[in-house]
Amino acid sequence: MFYLIEPDDELSDNWLFFEEDLNGVLVVREEYRDLVCQSCGKIDENIAISRGLSSHFIVETNSDIVATSEDWICVSARFCDEIMKLKFGGLRFIPLADSKHSIVMPELLVETDETRAGFENHNQCTSCGRFGERIIGPFIQGMRLPASDSTFFASSIANENVKVSYYRFFASELIVEAIRKLEFAGIDFVETA
Ligand SMILES: [Zn+2]
Repeated sequence: MFYLIEPDDELSDNWLFFEEDLNGVLVVREEYRDLVCQSCGKIDENIAISRGLSSHFIVETNSDIVATSEDWICVSARFCDEIMKLKFGGLRFIPLADSKHSIVMPELLVETDETRAGFENHNQCTSCGRFGERIIGPFIQGMRLPASDSTFFASSIANENVKVSYYRFFASELIVEAIRKLEFAGIDFVETA
């Protein structure tokens, strides 16, 4: 059995890659604006992340795990510490400016057979080739499972919502049993088939 690790809650109006302009319209943050595809408006999030997180992105929550408004996962310093103590791999933590929370990136992307992974794709951009939305999947049946059960993993095929691409994180029973004991606030374990 494998589980999807998901936050219970999403931050409202707390965007990692977006900010409001002077008219209150949500636009890509200034530091990433040159990355915007002129056709669909999406950015290359990997390049954006490599430039660093915005010092204006601060998270106020009592949860150990929460979703940003664009569905990226943000975790507490305690979550990072405990995962590192347990030596579970597969996650990369990128600390926010205040060091109290980190954004989670996948370190292990597993090969995925798109025909079996259950994705539903919509509105492909003719310019950058990305989908407006890539939802439903990935199903575990289409993914090559990691050899070790001490590592989190994500599909090599990212999901897309109308704003950004994002990853969903999977974990083995072994990991889930270990982290259940730590009673993190706001975490949800969703059984996969
Ligand atoms: Zn595009």
